[in-house]
Amino acid sequence: MNQTHSTTVVEAGPDAVPDADALLSPTGTDALAVLVADCVPVVLVGSTARGDHVTAVVHAGRKGVEGDIAGRTVEELRQRGALTTSAWIGPSICGRCYEVPEDMREQVAGVVPSALSTTSWGTPALDLPAGVRSQLEAAGVSVHNAGGSKNPCTLENDGLFSHRAVGKGRPEGRLAGLVWRHG
Ligand SMILES: [Zn+2]
Repeated sequence: MNQTHSTTVVEAGPDAVPDADALLSPTGTDALAVLVADCVPVVLVGSTARGDHVTAVVHAGRKGVEGDIAGRTVEELRQRGALTTSAWIGPSICGRCYEVPEDMREQVAGVVPSALSTTSWGTPALDLPAGVRSQLEAAGVSVHNAGGSKNPCTLENDGLFSHRAVGKGRPEGRLAGLVWRHG
């Protein structure tokens, strides 16, 4: 998908690269990818009553968190038969690093209180992974961290791609979150 910081959720198809920030496979057999470098990547797997699977990937940046793209995607999976859904959140910039202007923090935290944060140097910040996690949990999803018990922060780890670290000598690049069903 061509990610545009929207709250648009679309079904994957073979013929187009849609403008969207969440991509869904009604059979789970399409290989879905989300690309990030500080935003929050999420992969979702829903299970149907017949034991089939529906899958999705989500790109959740500041606007996506504010617009609850994660919750919208879970609702789309539910409409396609998902009874239970599990999510894996991948590495992103953490709430101690993602500095934003005070008015932006107020605006987002007014909608998503769990995203309210302060940087390690004491300025206004947003905790996007905490916001995404709370939105997924509110939608009844079982949430896991793809990076283990705690996801590493993209800005603080030289081995990861970080948009905010590019000006500090880190190479430009993206992390990919992938999900597909085989067999
Ligand atoms: Zn950090």
